[in-house]
Amino acid sequence: MNEPKRLLGFYAHPDDEILSPGGTVAQYAQASVPIEWVCATRGEAGQIADPSLATPENLGQVREKEMLCSAQTLGIRQVHFLGYRDSGMAGTADNQHPQAYVNSDPAEVVPRLVEIIRRFRPHVALTFEPWGGYGHPDHITIHQHTHLALKAAADPAYHPELGEAWRVSRLFYPLLRHAFFAALREKIAARNLDVSFFDQLQERRKNGWPDDNYQCVIDIRETFHRKWTAFHCHATQFGAHNLFRQIPEAEMAALLTHEYFALAQPEPEPGLMLDDLFAGLA
Ligand SMILES: [Zn+2]
Repeated sequence: MNEPKRLLGFYAHPDDEILSPGGTVAQYAQASVPIEWVCATRGEAGQIADPSLATPENLGQVREKEMLCSAQTLGIRQVHFLGYRDSGMAGTADNQHPQAYVNSDPAEVVPRLVEIIRRFRPHVALTFEPWGGYGHPDHITIHQHTHLALKAAADPAYHPELGEAWRVSRLFYPLLRHAFFAALREKIAARNLDVSFFDQLQERRKNGWPDDNYQCVIDIRETFHRKWTAFHCHATQFGAHNLFRQIPEAEMAALLTHEYFALAQPEPEPGLMLDDLFAGLA
């Protein structure tokens, strides 16, 4: 009998797990795939949508709870918080904080990731594409550290005391496509609400991953409700006035019927299309 397949996500903030891979994560969890998650920070530089929920001083603790609520909803069995500080958006003062994840030393982070990989032995890993969706410094950093850690984990000569070498079979970048934001912008515009967020986002996403470069599409209609329930766990980030909350769930479900994954490792042959992240893995 084949060994059960395992999935490990490498992300930067509480809420990164929702929009691009959340429905897929819920689907695999439902199929009893063990799933663990790395979260490099507790999102300390995020918003506080409602001052009754958190203060700048305790936002990290509150967002840790929000992440655990989301993980439980999606079916992630363990979240590994690395404990770095949220570096904030590019160009903000938070970038300079000595504990900011963007200023972390890979020589310190990579062995911690290697230990997680070698203990959990995932077959498939997920992380951001190189631009982190929209250039967030922490998204770019976890992308880089993930590549270093996957390589190191597979090398028996690298810190053997961290466990037996393990090669992750596939690394995917879950995508948030321009097409989704364009469709959401239209719905927001139709309600006569401010769409400047989308214009700023489009500017920041210019270096992002092309919409048509993916090797796997997962139909998430069955788990969309779970994904959207997990989204609501992140109450400090997505308050009542958040744009994502101006659209009824059924309409949002119609915009988010599928999740798209680009295969990063091994490099895909042209035209490759997988019907499952684990398809064909021994
Ligand atoms: Zn993030």
